[in-house]
Amino acid sequence: MFFMSKVVKFGGSSLADAKQFKKVADIINADPERVYVVPSAPGKRFSDDTKVTDLLYQCYERTITGEDFAKAFQPVRERFDGIIRELGLSMSLEEEYVKIGTDFRNGANRDYAASRGEYLNGIILADYLGYKFVDAAKGIFFDSKGNFDSDITNACLGAILEKTPKAVIPGFYGAMPDGSIKTFSRGGSDFTGSVVAKAAGASLYENWTDVSGFLVADPRIVDKPEGIEVITYSELRELSYMGAGVLHEDAIFPVRSANIPINIKNTNAPDDAGTLIVPSAKNAPAKYLITGIAGKKDFSVISIEKDRMNSEKGFMRRMLQVLENHGIFPEHMPTGIDTVSVVVNSHELDGQRDKLTQRLKEVARPDHFEIIDGLALIAVVGRGMKSAKGTATRVFAALSHADINIRMIDQGSSELNIIVGIDEKDFEKAIRVIYDMFILSEQTEK
Ligand code: ASP
Repeated sequence: MFFMSKVVKFGGSSLADAKQFKKVADIINADPERVYVVPSAPGKRFSDDTKVTDLLYQCYERTITGEDFAKAFQPVRERFDGIIRELGLSMSLEEEYVKIGTDFRNGANRDYAASRGEYLNGIILADYLGYKFVDAAKGIFFDSKGNFDSDITNACLGAILEKTPKAVIPGFYGAMPDGSIKTFSRGGSDFTGSVVAKAAGASLYENWTDVSGFLVADPRIVDKPEGIEVITYSELRELSYMGAGVLHEDAIFPVRSANIPINIKNTNAPDDAGTLIVPSAKNAPAKYLITGIAGKKDFSVISIEKDRMNSEKGFMRRMLQVLENHGIFPEHMPTGIDTVSVVVNSHELDGQRDKLTQRLKEVARPDHFEIIDGLALIAVVGRGMKSAKGTATRVFAALSHADINIRMIDQGSSELNIIVGIDEKDFEKAIRVIYDMFILSEQTEK
């Protein structure tokens, strides 16, 4: 059986140099339950610095085009040796560097190269903390198709952690069935943290980064937006799908299935509460009617009109089939009696507009056909709006007072979000007026 344990994941900026390492150690040592640590590779120390992961990709490219490994690896080595020196550690990574050189010469793949950032950083952090180092390749697995294998991972990693009371497990990678290294997509250490939390049966997954959690709206659009204290997994899915990033979008799945909350925390302001992501709204009363506003530009609407469309059997199916054949995935599909609009990501139309138009016209024989570009979608998300009356009215009123025309409306049956489509030129203004309507006005009332 596991005791109460927390998994703590630290992002690249939290481990960018020795000064940051010290903050990380203080955070870990402040709570005896923080027993499993998942590090990223050292990130940027200043805005135009290069992340170690990117240095490793560069090193790989340079060596496959014939450059000497030692020379290509030098910038990576300098980063790690600098950290070791400044922390005053007596350890050395010399043997590891030799092994990596040998692996490169023996044709190790690009993912292997990239993963060495987390691997080496994990060794340093384990030494610094006095924790055991557990190579992620020994406990995190992919299947032969390259998909993450949750069952095997859970069993193997769970067994390792059961015997290891305090460990550092590097983020971002695992092993293929043949033992070769594979990484997750960029930012994937967040996913590793979630996997480790599930395998350890942790009580909490703390994800330490350089911001104090999620904000209600994008701070580049709204001036000093309020932070989100508590958000549910479902709300977060809606918001991150619509572009609100902080956490890797797959990271919630392992912990969500195990009912483990995630706390987003700031390494540079550890006393800030951050954002707590919880499995259900039951014990999480909403502070405001809405939890967050997010959005994206670059959508197009394929608009089809045809008399008596609703009585033509199989019409939608045929149309969707054409879209699928062109690799296009509809985001939304508002319909009327004789009209249907399909909202798609504009980039999916690149290079195939004419062919697609021709095919859709053949299949649908529409009275009117048009592709309209320049649509932005805004999602207003909140568990507080469930069964609350007047939320949609307020969204529409805010937009109408700001003279913004709504081109599409969509509300899911879960009543968790309202999505509106507007002209791209109104995007920023729309987010600001919705924020004012729901957050600023409620703040003044409180
Ligand atoms: N170091 C990897 C990246 O830069 C993974 C991570 O930091 O989560 O994408």
